[in-house]
Amino acid sequence: MADLERPPTATIAELLAQSDQPLFSFEFFPPKDDAGSEQLWRTINLLQPLRPDFVSVTYGANGSTRQRTLDLTRRLAQETSLRTVGHLTCASQPVSEIDQTISGYATAGLRHILAVRGDMPGGPTVPWQPHPNGLTNATELVRRVKAAGDFCVGVAAFCDPHPQTLDPVLDAHILLDKQAAGAEFAITQLFFEADHYFALIDRLRAIGCTLPVIPGLMPITQIGQTTRFAELSGAPIPSTVLAALEHVADDPAGVREVGTEITAELAQQLLDGGAPGLHFFTQNRSVATRAIWAGLRR
Ligand SMILES: Cc1cc2nc3c(=O)[nH]c(=O)nc-3n(C[C@H](O)[C@H](O)[C@H](O)COP(=O)(O)OP(=O)(O)OC[C@H]3O[C@@H](n4cnc5c(N)ncnc54)[C@H](O)[C@@H]3O)c2cc1C
Repeated sequence: MADLERPPTATIAELLAQSDQPLFSFEFFPPKDDAGSEQLWRTINLLQPLRPDFVSVTYGANGSTRQRTLDLTRRLAQETSLRTVGHLTCASQPVSEIDQTISGYATAGLRHILAVRGDMPGGPTVPWQPHPNGLTNATELVRRVKAAGDFCVGVAAFCDPHPQTLDPVLDAHILLDKQAAGAEFAITQLFFEADHYFALIDRLRAIGCTLPVIPGLMPITQIGQTTRFAELSGAPIPSTVLAALEHVADDPAGVREVGTEITAELAQQLLDGGAPGLHFFTQNRSVATRAIWAGLRR
């Protein structure tokens, strides 16, 4: 795909402030081999016609994955007109490496960074150890990115309490700190109940945090993957959802169909309740995301 249109100039924060339509966005991870790369670019070609407001690329835990993130964001910036967000973490890295990535993003032409802390190997329940020459948390990372250049910075939010706090009120205060540090929007971790999103918004507004929060949705296409991701992120799966999936557990196509319907219903409830957009964790696939997107009443 060689799309010679340039990426749009408004930032995500400006779009959120100005648009009366919800934003749609897609998250990708950097592929690790040629087959993965072909799969991802097929997906990008199929999703680009939906004119997403932005796409984002995750940032992994080790050096080779990180280079692949930079390579992919550079290619997206050079070969497409997609507004591209590079994720950045402060896990297992000295500030010198963090600074190199920030300047790599700037050189690639990116104006947006999603600043998240990252986790220890083993996931978010493993006790966090900052790098001896690194940063302690995502709030410090937001400050570092803002000091380094003219970036519009996004951060992570949690509808279900983060596994390390298990405290929704502390989570809300952490988001308030991130906003004070310069964050301009947030994207949530995956979750399964619209009420949990709206309760998070109420907690934030009650303490004066005005950050726009875009719900993050993982289309359900496989039972094992969904329960694994849900457990890692501390997002409980409602028993009704589990029961509906278990009912078709022996039929992969049935799981995809039921899972897509469940995610579509959640997406619709979020838009109907006033969510400012939807961010799809695509897993580098397009079928379920496109089906959900096509069925939404906006
Ligand atoms: C949309 C989205 C995208 C993501 N992309 C990536 C990615 O690309 N790569 C990746 O590795 N991970 C990614 N993650 C996962 C993220 O790194 C983890 O969820 C991580 O456990 C928390 O990140 P955070 O930015 O919320 O961290 P922080 O805001 O630093 O918070 C993490 C924990 O630190 C403690 N803490 C932080 N600040 C304070 C404070 N002021 N007072 C007391 N305690 C505090 C709390 O226990 C808190 O739960 C993403 C998450 C989301 C929602």
